[in-house]
Amino acid sequence: MNDTSAPRDGIAQDQFLTILSREEAIARFDAALFPREIPQEMRPLAHALGCALAQDVVTPVDVPPFDRSNVDGFALRASDVTDAGESNPVRLALNAEQIACGVFPNLVVTPGTATPIATGGPVPRGADAIVMIEQTEPAGEAIDLRRAVTHGQFISYAGSDMARGEILLRAGTLIGAREIGMLAACGIAEIAVARRPRVAVLSTGDELVQPGGVLAPAQIFDTNGAIVTAAVTENGGEAIFLGAIPDDEQKLEAAMRKALAQSDMLILSGGTSKGAGDVSHRIVSRLGAPGIVAHGVALKPGKPLCLAVCDGKPVVILPGFPTSAMFTFHDMIVPVLRRMAGLPPRTDATLHARLPVRVSSELGRAEFVMVSLVGGAQGLLAYPTGKGSGAITSFAQADGFLRVDALADQVPAGSDVEVTLFTPHVRVPDLVVIGSHCVGLDLVTAPLARNGLLVRSIAVGSLGGLAAARRGECDLAPIHLLDEKSGVYNKAYLAEGLELIEGWRRMQGIVHRPGDPRFAGLDAKAAVVAALRDPECLMVNRNQGAGTRILLDQLLVGARPDGYWNQPRSHNAVAAAVAQNRADWGMTIAPVAAAYGLTFLPFREEHYDFALVTARKESFAVQAFLKSLHSEESRRALVAAGLEPA
Ligand code: AMP
Ligand code: MG
Repeated sequence: MNDTSAPRDGIAQDQFLTILSREEAIARFDAALFPREIPQEMRPLAHALGCALAQDVVTPVDVPPFDRSNVDGFALRASDVTDAGESNPVRLALNAEQIACGVFPNLVVTPGTATPIATGGPVPRGADAIVMIEQTEPAGEAIDLRRAVTHGQFISYAGSDMARGEILLRAGTLIGAREIGMLAACGIAEIAVARRPRVAVLSTGDELVQPGGVLAPAQIFDTNGAIVTAAVTENGGEAIFLGAIPDDEQKLEAAMRKALAQSDMLILSGGTSKGAGDVSHRIVSRLGAPGIVAHGVALKPGKPLCLAVCDGKPVVILPGFPTSAMFTFHDMIVPVLRRMAGLPPRTDATLHARLPVRVSSELGRAEFVMVSLVGGAQGLLAYPTGKGSGAITSFAQADGFLRVDALADQVPAGSDVEVTLFTPHVRVPDLVVIGSHCVGLDLVTAPLARNGLLVRSIAVGSLGGLAAARRGECDLAPIHLLDEKSGVYNKAYLAEGLELIEGWRRMQGIVHRPGDPRFAGLDAKAAVVAALRDPECLMVNRNQGAGTRILLDQLLVGARPDGYWNQPRSHNAVAAAVAQNRADWGMTIAPVAAAYGLTFLPFREEHYDFALVTARKESFAVQAFLKSLHSEESRRALVAAGLEPA
């Protein structure tokens, strides 16, 4: 039920005095910050995980410290058994000691003798090879060998693993479990690491409530606080989250000064546009020299980014929209943070994929476009999934992003693009569903997910889904398109190579707030007639092209009541508008009406079906989907959600 809309920043360019290119902004920020000394501290190994080594580590001892047996067997002299063969066993007398781990040998292995030795035991004087116990035959106080052994066989020589004086690890190495293992093997208990930069994180805005709290009208949850805190930790910083501060210049200045006093870097989000109420950048210019080095960067999303250096400490104001905050943080701030943390630059995994649709881009701004990867007939495809800079769910659907150069105004369909992956482990989905979204879809695909199949659904609307299905880029395209001439859903829209799989019905109806006397006792049609007669009664419409809009137009028969031009793109938005008193009536589907506690007057059933790409019908995942769609479990789940299986 979600539709996509074009990304937008909502901030006019002329609010910024100078918009710098991404490269120029990075260069100015770097010049004001580097070179700088990286503070160091000693840390015990147990607390060094994730830190960067501040100095090269030289191996202080040989590892292993002595020549060591690699197997359970016998230490011997290889030349004693040169002539051993199947029909010519050689007998060696056993010396009277057993070399277990941690036991230093006392007896010399003289010609014609062997000493029992365990894996890890020190090789005794005189011996130059080890034979595995399995390749010997016991013979009382002796053993027989029927095979020659090579000199040095199964011996690890002193220092062969790590040699004393060698550089074990270089400064800047990120310490993980492997590095800790190497350091422990050398007996190193404490190391010099780069001290993690302390990064104070502040959110700004009167509208923000911390997760876990309760939203009052017009409030939203503070998303950036959590994102930035986690991203700082991921990139070698020690995050100090200080909460959200209201848009009050005095309070904010006090909070910023206090935050800077206890940190090496300050990151704010929100309030960076040069509009009324946006005060952070004014405060920044009072916090120390040289102050703001860039305010307004040719990035999309992310134009309002503000970069400053105050008495040597970086101060950053990220854009308010969470996705913008995240992209600018990763692109512009992470490199600086990692340098301050003594870490090497981040190495994001990338791969190449084909872009199935054209991406238009604003000339003059480097643009980040989130993409979802799906497997096509000729390799990977990168589907744009962005919903606009305010949307956070795009992250869930996306595997990574591509960067459109500032000088490009578009990337043509069919282009080969480089995708930077959010995580290096991408798995190409087993089932790809592109089209209109519905809660019912999650219910039907749930059993597939439980069985380990990866299902990717990309919400692009019915028509976008059909186009993808025609190009063979998905398995299924969920659609709900009414053919106005025939009054029949979906059938008329199928093209060659596609077949219709019936999904479920969604009851469309008129919603109003419970107890609204203007609609008492009326059915859907009568309710609309009553609403049209009452000039105080405000409607909420739907966007052009939506199936719901077609039904509304039928009911309105040409009327343009107040509220007609309020045209949101989803069922949920209609319900929210009515529930929050921004409109008095609208049309949505039954389960959404129920979720918002609205009174629902049924009008007409809409058919939510699937255009199946016939060529993919026999695939395992499609078969699993069809099986689930027709299962008793799914039917029950659909009914419980207020949907009616076909
Ligand atoms: P601003 O630059 O403060 O005008 O913010 C731009 C948009 O981002 C507004 O819609 C804010 O509500 C939103 N926003 C700002 N800060 C946050 C935050 N910490 N979490 C989620 N949204 C935010
Ligand atoms: Mg704000």
